[in-house]
Amino acid sequence: MSSSATDRSPNILSTAIQYLKGIGEKRAEALNQSGIFTVYDLLYYFPRRYLDRTTMLKMRELKKDQTVTVIGKVAAKGIQGGRGKSRFVIQLTDETGVLSCVWFNQTKYWEKQFMIGEMLAVSGKVGYFAGYQMVHPEYDRLTDDSTDTEDQLINTGSIIPLYPSSEFLKKVGLDTRGLRKVIRPALERFVAEVHDILPETIISHYQLLKLHAALWHIHFPESMHQLHAAQSRLKFDELFYLELMLALRKNRIVHQQKGIEFTYVGERIHKLAEQLPFELTNAQKRVLHEIRADMKKPHPMFRLLQGDVGSGKTIISLITMLIAVENGYQAALMAPTEILAEQHFLTSRTFLQSVGVNVELLIGAQKSAERNAILERLQNGECNIAIGTHALIQDQVVFKNLGVIVIDEQHRFGVLQRASLMEKGISSTQNTPDVLVMTATPIPRTLSLTLYGDLDVSIIDELPQGRKPINTSWRYANKRPQIFDFVKDHLYKGQQAYIVYPLVEESEKLDLQAASESYEELSNGVFANNKLALLHGRMTNDEKDSVMTSFKRGEIDVLVSTTVIEVGVDVPNATIMVVEHAERFGLTQLHQLRGRVGRGTEQSYCILIATPPISDDGMVRLNTMAQTNDGFKISEVDLKLRGPGEFFGTRQHGMPELRIANPLEDMNVLVKAREAAFELINDDPHLLAPQNEMVHHHFKHHYAERMKLIQVG
Ligand code: ADP
Ligand code: MG
Repeated sequence: MSSSATDRSPNILSTAIQYLKGIGEKRAEALNQSGIFTVYDLLYYFPRRYLDRTTMLKMRELKKDQTVTVIGKVAAKGIQGGRGKSRFVIQLTDETGVLSCVWFNQTKYWEKQFMIGEMLAVSGKVGYFAGYQMVHPEYDRLTDDSTDTEDQLINTGSIIPLYPSSEFLKKVGLDTRGLRKVIRPALERFVAEVHDILPETIISHYQLLKLHAALWHIHFPESMHQLHAAQSRLKFDELFYLELMLALRKNRIVHQQKGIEFTYVGERIHKLAEQLPFELTNAQKRVLHEIRADMKKPHPMFRLLQGDVGSGKTIISLITMLIAVENGYQAALMAPTEILAEQHFLTSRTFLQSVGVNVELLIGAQKSAERNAILERLQNGECNIAIGTHALIQDQVVFKNLGVIVIDEQHRFGVLQRASLMEKGISSTQNTPDVLVMTATPIPRTLSLTLYGDLDVSIIDELPQGRKPINTSWRYANKRPQIFDFVKDHLYKGQQAYIVYPLVEESEKLDLQAASESYEELSNGVFANNKLALLHGRMTNDEKDSVMTSFKRGEIDVLVSTTVIEVGVDVPNATIMVVEHAERFGLTQLHQLRGRVGRGTEQSYCILIATPPISDDGMVRLNTMAQTNDGFKISEVDLKLRGPGEFFGTRQHGMPELRIANPLEDMNVLVKAREAAFELINDDPHLLAPQNEMVHHHFKHHYAERMKLIQVG
């Protein structure tokens, strides 16, 4: 009795894996490398794919040029051909026929990899060379001849799990087969000890499998139906806890934090409106209305402003901050780069200084005397609005009464950075400041509403009038002379251009070198009769400032730059964006870069120069850019290419990592999980009800750290 009581403590799943049978020190080390430390981790190490033997092709059914997976036994193997031309071949058989698998190069190595009699699953394209063959197929070892038999394999069910493995794991025998042989006994021994992490009511309402059943079937399903049920349950878990975090945060903001009521509509807002050189678009008016309504309320605003590049988010942020000032508070705008901060500072000077608002710029590279003076004005309230980089969140920065915070290009900041700025607001006013985060990374609307479930979302879905769509094309590098001629034609008409060089090998130094060398070459060559300037991250602020200012004034024709200009920069007379090595850029980045042009009324061009070799994904990116200007379409393609994990920058958002759920593909599970989570928090905001104890416990164990981040911002 007493031993079973210990067994049932939740900690048994925290047993370190080296205590499991079949796992020695070396295997434990390799598993740790893959993030598997405990029995629990091992049970949650899911197969990457499954082979359904009932629907798989037999050798007899193969056809040329099919891309397939087949299972067979290694019937023969050997190195063929003479030196220089040798190849390693295995004959893979099933009861219906033969397939040859061929490896060129490293034939000695390959020969050691396979044993006569073992079962393999091989995937690849079927070719024909005196019989069907696959060249360099992907393979998974399903058995080995010494310990397993085909019968045993069949006994494991008709659906065979294939596990993700790494070089480290393979070296210690933990390939698919090895992992299966470790995971199965672990499941047999421990799965009954797994406590469910959802309340019974949710499990039955959404007709979910129990957790222990789901864990068993995700590894060893007996039918596809069973597998899908297991997948749904485990996806539900992940998305439920993600939504639970959002629900808790939203609840906290709405009910528990005290905000500031910005009720006064000041004279200066009318004055600013009169002075604007353009009329706000309907979309801008609408989001402004939404923001105003939020700001009047007694609880803090927490709003995401989403709008494609060039849609005019900046002016909205300035008006938002002006509302704070009119109500006697300070406001701060944080931008991810110094260039962008400076540009916002210049814009705000145009619009805000003229109506008598005192704006200050705070960035890293200021001289200490200048800096101290600014810090003093922030503290004594002489400065109404601070615009800056993460320099704003340094310890020495103290505000008199920071009431509104705007974060531009919010995906560029970590959760902690946003939180520290909010902290400065709280400590200066004893209230939670209103927060507006802005992003140009458009994600599909339903998804953003769900993923940012704790934020209210405003969308600018309209560009200012008179914008012509940017004409985008991509060309191979050998067309560079024609491209530069085209650029020159436009410079003669008084327009301006950017030429951007990408990060080379993740090194800012090399990156800079590429840009500087090309700058020299271009200034002395094709563009000898034009004014060129170089812009990069290593320049001092004054240098950057003076280059940007001259470019804005039209004193420079071509700005040769590293990616420092990627976000936000706004020079309407610049009409051509040339991107070198465009094949290396991500889609979002290319779209941002392109957004630097097309800001005036002249026809603008974006020319992407690609240097082979170009990967398949690279091709898709280039073609997508050439085909559409629509940020939403682009982010959908981006999402497909990169997968949701990377796309959402989950770490930055403080979101939990998703192992099995994909918020895009699993939209229907997401919607249910969200509904369940928000209902639960609505009924039991502090997770204190006895029936929610396991939710509380699991949340505390696995999400509390993140919640700490999320709680404050
Ligand atoms: P983003 O949303 O990418 O931050 P910006 O705020 O930089 O875009 O705006 C892009 C350009 O459009 C700026 O030059 C800005 O002055 C201009 N702009 C903003 N709103 C309007 C409008 N309603 N009509 C015309 N031009 C506008
Ligand atoms: Mg912007």
